Amino acid sequence: MNINEKPFIIAGPCSAESRQQTIETCCQLARTGRVDVLRAGVWKPRTKPGSFEGVGSVGLEWLAEVKQLTGLPVATEVATAKHVEQVLAHNIDVVWIGARTTVNPFSTQELADALRGTDVTVFVKNPMVPDVKLWQGAVERIINAGIRNVGLIHRGFSSYGSEFRNNPMWHVAIEMRRRMADIPMLCDPSHICGCRDKIESIINEANDLNYSGLMVECHANPDEALSDSEQQLTPEQFLEMLNRVLWRKQNFSSEKGAEALAMMRAEIDQIDSELITLLSRRMKISDRIGVVKRQNNVAILQSHRWNLIVERMLNQTDKLTLDGDFIVKLMEIIHLESIRRQTEIVNK
Ligand code: PEP
Ligand code: MN
Repeated sequence: MNINEKPFIIAGPCSAESRQQTIETCCQLARTGRVDVLRAGVWKPRTKPGSFEGVGSVGLEWLAEVKQLTGLPVATEVATAKHVEQVLAHNIDVVWIGARTTVNPFSTQELADALRGTDVTVFVKNPMVPDVKLWQGAVERIINAGIRNVGLIHRGFSSYGSEFRNNPMWHVAIEMRRRMADIPMLCDPSHICGCRDKIESIINEANDLNYSGLMVECHANPDEALSDSEQQLTPEQFLEMLNRVLWRKQNFSSEKGAEALAMMRAEIDQIDSELITLLSRRMKISDRIGVVKRQNNVAILQSHRWNLIVERMLNQTDKLTLDGDFIVKLMEIIHLESIRRQTEIVNK
């Protein structure tokens, strides 16, 4: 199992519900020949008490059987040291830390300590809240415990009134990948979507963004699933989806493509340098305006002037084939920074 090989696919039911359901679903998935790791949750962190909370460690026995039958590594979620102990006793190869656990540094440290010295592969899901540092901290705890195979799973962020069950907020995951560029990131479209119909478009988006692979929930009879019934695919539906995806390569395979890319990147680097030089000039002028405002006791924010700036920029966007919303957002950031600097100057 090489978690760096694209596309790396983890699939299986949300929960192990019975021996028969676990084996049937996992064997169907194994037969597709497209899955690297088979998953099933045995301890389920449920939002409300009284819902199905998993079958517990008997499910690990079913997973061990699945491993024997298919020859594939198996995975489950762990949230406590006790879970880790039981996982190790059943030779489970891969564990993931769920979104509700990643938020809690006490829990992630407890897991790191329990996993120390083992060769289990660990995937860390993003925390429920879009806090990159918290996610990074959890991963660092696992790495510091000497775990060599560590991966990330982007499953979206808890949100109220979003069209998704968990808002993907792609920019947060992209920032995490920038910070931990050597660690592969999988996308979990099932928990992002919460229903079947958007899963394929999320898979395509993850592919465009060069994700390493996927974790997808599949069930032999999704409608009868005891947890996350609406988002689970049949193994057959999942295979059909996978067959429609043309996985993007990390790099160009031809010299010519690589050369053209290198030239365009050099040009972009040059333009970026020019952009920040211009920004620096703009900020220095804005500082001088701050000095004049202080001398004359004039308010910093001048809404009319700000409106004129935005209007002037928007008049140029069409000709320059730039998106108006983008330009407004960019100008807002620049304007806020000017205000911040002038506030310091005026109150000095
Ligand atoms: C899961 O993968 O079954 C799960 C509970 O995921 P998450 O922690 O992303 O909600
Ligand atoms: Mn689930």
